[in-house]
Amino acid sequence: MAYDETDELPDREKAREFYSKYELKDVLGKGISSVVRKCIEKSSGKEYAVKIVEYSGPELKESTLREIEIMKMIGGHPNIIEIHDTFESDSFVFIVMQLCPNGELFDHLTQVVCLSEKKTRFIMRNILEAVLWLHKRNIVHRDLKPENILLDKDMNVKISDFGFAVQLEDEQTLSDLCGTPGYLAPETLYCSMYDNASGYGMQVDMWACGVILFTLLSGSPPFWHRRQAIMLRMIMEGNYSFASPEWDDVSEQAKDLIRNLLIVDPAKRFTAQQALDSPFFARDAQTKPDRVFYPRKTFKVYILTVMVIQRLKTLKNKPQQIQVAELVDNPYRFKTYRKIIDSAAFTIYGHWVKKGEQQNRAALFEIEPKCDLKAMHVSRIEVN
Ligand code: ATP
Repeated sequence: MAYDETDELPDREKAREFYSKYELKDVLGKGISSVVRKCIEKSSGKEYAVKIVEYSGPELKESTLREIEIMKMIGGHPNIIEIHDTFESDSFVFIVMQLCPNGELFDHLTQVVCLSEKKTRFIMRNILEAVLWLHKRNIVHRDLKPENILLDKDMNVKISDFGFAVQLEDEQTLSDLCGTPGYLAPETLYCSMYDNASGYGMQVDMWACGVILFTLLSGSPPFWHRRQAIMLRMIMEGNYSFASPEWDDVSEQAKDLIRNLLIVDPAKRFTAQQALDSPFFARDAQTKPDRVFYPRKTFKVYILTVMVIQRLKTLKNKPQQIQVAELVDNPYRFKTYRKIIDSAAFTIYGHWVKKGEQQNRAALFEIEPKCDLKAMHVSRIEVN
């Protein structure tokens, strides 16, 4: 979509300086109080992204200026979005930053469902290095999630959206509730529930890294329930599991790192440096493949896949029921089929996957029928 003169844009007079230097292009995304658009620097012809924030009150102005200040403080890391220019008017601010044409990691994950360990390792190392950079400067992001991790043209990750980030004084702890429910650390929830809670610090980012790592590897978040109160209780209890079959093929090193990140006690949780030093990241250097290779199983899956593909190809000419069950009793057990089934589900229902609050991508992985539906089915059978 090209820029349309009729679009509602900030007062051109007040933002004259910006418009004299940049040409505004398509909308890239929208936040609660901002719109992010592509723009071209007239002098260099280079493409950038510009976040335009319209101040609805003094609080938003204060938080946006704090976001800019933090972005300026943390520049210079390859995995953190770089600020290029800012233009401030009384009622708006324009934050010109590096463009990430490949969008959010969240959308990439919706396309591919889940990632291999090798790709996850690459992405997680980049995220953790950026988090280490922040934490060394006493800055806590507080809203790490795949929606705030952008992908540049070479698919390198860039952490963005520093709207909740703060720089802590020595020994300072925080207590305000902010972030996104599925990624909130237990100590953040404790602070919002108990007056005597001791506050939280930078370790909340490490919890979020654990949630992201889990989600990248399995496609589904570790803490999820249709009823948010139950989901929050699961977080506070650190109640998650490596369910079969999705986790059967995942290495122990990956699971160990998750176990060390999703620890309820923040004092025992891995720091960014400890996570980077974990055996999960040492695997790149090893010659050993990610998973144990079972030649018989691989051959069987290969043959069955070819048979199913062949059947699908001839389906148009010879309509017939595909009885996958006659080939394998539980096709979801096999990674190849699982990928086909999950990809199909995400292709059809991917638009239901909401960002932020709901985390309902997990619902697409629910293969068990809901209890009430099961009960209805059983009672119908009994009646008949
Ligand atoms: P929220 O209300 O979710 O906190 P926000 O107002 O802080 O959002 P951002 O998250 O910074 O705004 O940006 C909104 C969306 O714009 C992002 O989710 C992303 O899709 C897109 N976006 C932001 N920055 C860039 C960029 N540098 N390059 C490409 N797209 C971007």
